[in-house]
Amino acid sequence: MLTNFQKAMEITTGTSSVRDIRIERIGAHSHIRGLGLDDRLEPRANSQGMVGQGKARKAAGLIVKMVQDGRISGKAILMAGPPSSGKTAIAMGMAQSLGNDVPFTMIAASEVFSLSMSKTEALTQAFRRSIGVRIKEETEIIEGEIVEIQIDRSVTGATKMGKLTIKTTDMATVYDLGSKMIDSLAKEKVLAGDVVTIDKASGRITKLGRSFSRARDYDATGADTKFVQTPEGEVQKRKEVVHTVSLHEIDVINSRTQGFLALFAGDTGEIKPELREQINNKIGEWKEEGKAEIVPGVLFIDEVHMLDIECFSFLNRALEDELAPLVIMASNRGTATIRGTTFRSPHGLPVDLLDRVLIISTQPYSIADVEQIIQIRCQEEDVQLAPDALKALANLATETTLRYALNLISTAQVVARKRKSTVVETEDVRRCYGYFLDEKRSTQWLKEQQGSLVFDALGDNDVTMATS
Ligand code: ATP
Repeated sequence: MLTNFQKAMEITTGTSSVRDIRIERIGAHSHIRGLGLDDRLEPRANSQGMVGQGKARKAAGLIVKMVQDGRISGKAILMAGPPSSGKTAIAMGMAQSLGNDVPFTMIAASEVFSLSMSKTEALTQAFRRSIGVRIKEETEIIEGEIVEIQIDRSVTGATKMGKLTIKTTDMATVYDLGSKMIDSLAKEKVLAGDVVTIDKASGRITKLGRSFSRARDYDATGADTKFVQTPEGEVQKRKEVVHTVSLHEIDVINSRTQGFLALFAGDTGEIKPELREQINNKIGEWKEEGKAEIVPGVLFIDEVHMLDIECFSFLNRALEDELAPLVIMASNRGTATIRGTTFRSPHGLPVDLLDRVLIISTQPYSIADVEQIIQIRCQEEDVQLAPDALKALANLATETTLRYALNLISTAQVVARKRKSTVVETEDVRRCYGYFLDEKRSTQWLKEQQGSLVFDALGDNDVTMATS
């Protein structure tokens, strides 16, 4: 009989089995472990990799609380502030605080523009990736003593099969062992005579102890068959297992043209609206029957000003959908042209969309905050920084940007290593400052080149036309 979970995977097709894909985030924000708030949602000065930006972190914490209470689907937040002021870091902190069970999708607005699918399809997929469906399953756990294990070792790999008998209250139960259960047997070093529980859904075997029967030791990886006298039987238990998958995963698996392998390839193509409707209806039925629960997650759209007017109009409508996630947008633009129009608007967003969003602003950092952030990054990247070098980097960050200073940490470490030192000194930072330009010096350098670079001769208007 199919489980609820398997049924979700084959609402319209015969495909089953899915793997929940979660990619561990590493890189620029890997030091962020949460929002660094206390129980009253007050920001701690330096906690969970987060420093400063107290007001914005508190506001983000309130939103996280509302998501956890299931009270904020279909809402939108705009994180607005200067470059490198922690907008993405705070969004990451929100993701960490929400935990693994709540879907969190992060896209850059420019990813929406592709030749393989329309802008609205790309946004729809991002929305549906951010909605989880928690499917409940009753699964059986058998508890008893192993009386027989039979594994044919000549058959290996995925086709490894065998037979396991355990004693239960009613009678000896025989299971055909899949490779998963065989692996569990070997991992737990289960011997005949051991009392175990077996989770039939996952194949997990847990050793509880050893019975006092005349059990002869038996190596679970052996090729033999042994029989053991059984003592009194044990009980059967039932437990609830919960799988969380995203609506998008259910869409892809049920798409006749795609199939679940597309989930691994990432090339999911367009999905027909009728299929989505069918899936929504089915999930709605399950919700009513108590078999499934909707988990609205978070969609983070970085550099949202890169979306165009059609996308903004889509967002306005999509946010009203019953199955909408919390949408967090980030922009570092001041008043800018709304892409696809000639109108200018705050943050490059149309006013009707701005009217819907709660705006969280981030402020430039104090030098003390910058120093602490640099120190955290040094710990994360395993770099030892001399106190003077820390001061130099912090000063650089205020003159350039925090991101530029953070980028110099690892390059300065390479320079320090070249002179066989494990500690990065001011001189290493200074040399890297010479090797790599920041944005301001790059602009200055371009001016000095006086049009010698390709396209440099174009006036402002020409450039606008070329990029729009
Ligand atoms: P942009 O507008 O350019 O996209 P942003 O506001 O999203 O910038 P981030 O990318 O979040 O800026 O910050 C730049 C770097 O500084 C990242 O490595 C980030 O993790 C780190 N950072 C920013 N703010 C904080 C903070 N408050 N605590 C710890 N690290 C931070």
